[in-house]
Amino acid sequence: MDKNEVLHKYFGHSGFRKGQEQIVDNILGGRDCLCVMPTGAGKSLCFQIPALVMNGTALVISPLISLMQCQVEDLRQIGISAAYINSSLESEEYFDICRRAYAGELKLIYAAPERLSSESFLKMCSEIEIPLVAIDEAHCVSHWGQDFRPSYLKIAGFIRTLKKRPVVAAFTATATYAVKSDIKRLLELNDPFSITTGFDRPNLFFEVRKPESKDDELLKILKNVSGAIVYCSTRKNVENVGEMLLRNGIKAAVYHAGFTSEERKTAQEDFLHDRVDVIVATNAFGMGIDKSNVPLVVHYNIPKDLESYYQEAGRAGRDGSPARCILLYSKGDVAIAKFMIERSHEDSELSFEEQNELKKRDYIRLKKMTAYCETTACLRREILLYFGENYPHNCKNCGNCVNNVEVEDVTVEAQKILSCVYRLKQRGKTENINVIKNILLGISDSYSAQNGYETLSTFGIMKNVKPKRLQLIAEHLLKEGYIEQDGQICVLTLKADEFIKKKQTVIMRFEKKSIEQPVPENNELFEKLKALRKKTAAALGVPPYVVFTDATLLDMCALLPKNYEELLRVSGVGVRKAERYGKKFLLVINEYYKKTGPF
Ligand code: ADP
Ligand code: MG
Repeated sequence: MDKNEVLHKYFGHSGFRKGQEQIVDNILGGRDCLCVMPTGAGKSLCFQIPALVMNGTALVISPLISLMQCQVEDLRQIGISAAYINSSLESEEYFDICRRAYAGELKLIYAAPERLSSESFLKMCSEIEIPLVAIDEAHCVSHWGQDFRPSYLKIAGFIRTLKKRPVVAAFTATATYAVKSDIKRLLELNDPFSITTGFDRPNLFFEVRKPESKDDELLKILKNVSGAIVYCSTRKNVENVGEMLLRNGIKAAVYHAGFTSEERKTAQEDFLHDRVDVIVATNAFGMGIDKSNVPLVVHYNIPKDLESYYQEAGRAGRDGSPARCILLYSKGDVAIAKFMIERSHEDSELSFEEQNELKKRDYIRLKKMTAYCETTACLRREILLYFGENYPHNCKNCGNCVNNVEVEDVTVEAQKILSCVYRLKQRGKTENINVIKNILLGISDSYSAQNGYETLSTFGIMKNVKPKRLQLIAEHLLKEGYIEQDGQICVLTLKADEFIKKKQTVIMRFEKKSIEQPVPENNELFEKLKALRKKTAAALGVPPYVVFTDATLLDMCALLPKNYEELLRVSGVGVRKAERYGKKFLLVINEYYKKTGPF
């Protein structure tokens, strides 16, 4: 079988993504590889496809049990024989895997690096054919990486014990020079093909909001969303926000390092299996979460730097479907972040000077993070620039590009407001801006009755305008000097006179309403397919996205396949999944189709 066949038939993808094909070709051509691709770019496929094309059993080194389980489960679902070996296995299961490996029945074995010192494992590896060793999360080999794992240092020695040197391919999302050169050196890569694909994730919509009340904003954002992650900077915040959501009827789980591992596991499982709509967590939640259908990541507090932010926010939309990353920003959070920096290196064994060096570095990073929150420029461009990538235009897919400002002509409304002040003056009255607003909105209260304001010609002439909008325009007129407010009284200025006499216009910039979650056109069908997916997954005891990703369901909504052949055209549906689940999903689609008719 060749790579394209594997891609279409097993994985059901219509094409390779950026960089994937080159990597597959290099591995198949026998060359070592060092691949730096951002989270969600599709690194797994780059070693899984060669593993299927090559003879023998590929070995994948992966740092976390949960990561292995996810990937092996995914592979089994599409009919590929794969297994993982780690400390969670019973010895019987372990021997069964060894038996299948010796019989040449396994295309991939996933193992934790600690395995590499187990006698029986080493013996087996030296006796079976291993054409490829893929090292996932390869930055774990470096002290400079965020997640240094000493046992990764054993990998190079292990590879030397194999009877034939396999192709070695390393994968990471960390792009710094120090980490990359550590990976090359410590994994003993042999003149590797090195590739760093762009860090852009076009399907992610970035946004920074500065709400008055974060809780209200969060409730608004989470409305009708399922599968969101909300990151908080402290355990206390996690608990408070979690309680607040529950109080408001949102199914939420909470996760931080202060909970027992049992509690954490339950929270994580509930989230993976779509049993809760939201998980509220500190940054302890993350590595090892391969859930592909996360439509939204909210940061309730400012993260400590853009590296952390991009990594955490990047957990949204891994399957390539549109997803949002919203940061709720308040200046108060910056103070907390600084406080955390001050305390961060205290208990380390570093000298005072070294601690200060690190703190200095952290402050600089935080400053850049803050600049991201304050900027009115394209957010995507800011992020990519930070990672050393040039992005020459505005992305048109971030909060600042899309929904920040809308320019409007508010001349008529301004005239009405000013004339209200004028009419009052004619009666020898001056009022503050709130009273003026009430008159314009036509609000009858005892004050307006007492003063006879209901008989003013301007009473109620703006009753169809939203109070918030009126407020903004009035503020604009104050700010721009058409009206002066002195204590409780408002008066018109010369500028206002000019404006009226010379029939000038007033142009204003409004913050546009924020984009809400993109909803597929036939949302009803999408919900039905999601329900079926959940039921199917529950029966199998796997997370829903293992059955089909959101992107796949969205594609079904768009293509409305009527039969098996058409179903195979849906992105993410390979032969195996079509056979397994096709019938049920087609039934739901056909039912929908019957009801609504062709378009
Ligand atoms: P990474 O390890 O780089 O973070 P993954 O390998 O977990 O990313 O892949 C992320 C998602 O992208 C998965 O849901 C996967 O199915 C999807 N994916 C990978 N390659 C393709 C492709 N060529 N076409 C469509 N989807 C893809
Ligand atoms: Mg990965």
